[in-house]
Amino acid sequence: MRHDDLTQHIARPLLEIRDLNLDFGTPRGRVHALRNVSLDVPAGQVVGIVGESGSGKSTLAYTLMGLLPENADVTAGSILFEGKDLLKMPAQARRNLLGDRLSMIFQDPMTALNPVRTIESQMIDIQHHEQRSRSEKRTRALEMLHRVGIPDPQSRIGAYPHHFSGGMRQRVCIAMALLVKPTLLVADEPTTALDATLEVQIIHLLKELQKEIGCSVLFVSHHLGAVAELCDRVAVMYAGEVVEEGAVRDIFHNPAHPYTRALLECDPGRIKKSTRTLPTIPGEVPSLLGSKKGCIFRARCPQAFSRCTHDNPIEYRIGVDQVARCHLLDEERLVSA
Ligand code: ATP
Ligand code: SF4
Repeated sequence: MRHDDLTQHIARPLLEIRDLNLDFGTPRGRVHALRNVSLDVPAGQVVGIVGESGSGKSTLAYTLMGLLPENADVTAGSILFEGKDLLKMPAQARRNLLGDRLSMIFQDPMTALNPVRTIESQMIDIQHHEQRSRSEKRTRALEMLHRVGIPDPQSRIGAYPHHFSGGMRQRVCIAMALLVKPTLLVADEPTTALDATLEVQIIHLLKELQKEIGCSVLFVSHHLGAVAELCDRVAVMYAGEVVEEGAVRDIFHNPAHPYTRALLECDPGRIKKSTRTLPTIPGEVPSLLGSKKGCIFRARCPQAFSRCTHDNPIEYRIGVDQVARCHLLDEERLVSA
């Protein structure tokens, strides 16, 4: 192994999430929205999180950013960012990270934009960590608006958010999120509200900018095609657990978990035959109330067997760079032993 390969090999990931557990308190009891979630985001890489609605993708993204509602309770685990546990950091230190080393793009651009202030004032304010004059900050804002494809930024910068279309607003949000040169960008379904053509444009733009800036990205999406296009690695979530994780090419070509296989089989981008009705995974995501025994996917799994009812599967390694939680992987080992 060459020296630089070796350095890269042993380099610590930028973000290390370990055994994270989170509950929401509700009148019906505690909703276990994240269970034993572990995930790494290596420096300079794009990691996707996929899974059906309700699998905990957004909860994970918001936990990272410290933007949780009052009824959320992290019951165990750690989130190491650049080696420091975000969950143990004083509130002020954590706030200082936001909009500086950590920034976020939301599904709805209006979550990040103030409707009664001009884009100019918001883009200048977001640079408050920078020791630059107001006119330098304005120049940087104009450059970034140009970079994300806003036509004639000089005349548009004084406009209010509602003067922009949805796609243009999302470009403004990307410009704002990247203006601070984050080390980690969290993007929560940033293209879901856009039509297919705009989605492709935004994904290409994100990819270009990520390469230029060299930041890591955690990209939450329903859309497997977008993940395949943008991400280096992908984590598949189901009912609050990461059930499979690995390099995008491995997961998409050689999925090891029955849930990942089902998700890929239902992806409209992969269905070869023309059809009027898109397939869905039979059954529903289980209720996350109360404690769970056995494999969380067993009620919908075509390959479930007796062990799946009693034991929660541990993580099994497939090849060098892929892990999945399914008892079948252990059984295969037993057969081949
Ligand atoms: P989607 O793709 O629809 O955004 P998701 O995978 O991002 O779904 P989350 O929004 O993270 O899923 O939700 C995970 C679980 O936590 C769901 O069962 C959801 O109902 C529950 N949940 C989320 N927020 C709260 C809350 N504030 N109080 C109670 N339960 C919540
Ligand atoms: Fe299916 Fe059992 Fe594997 Fe769970 S552990 S995914 S139920 S085979």
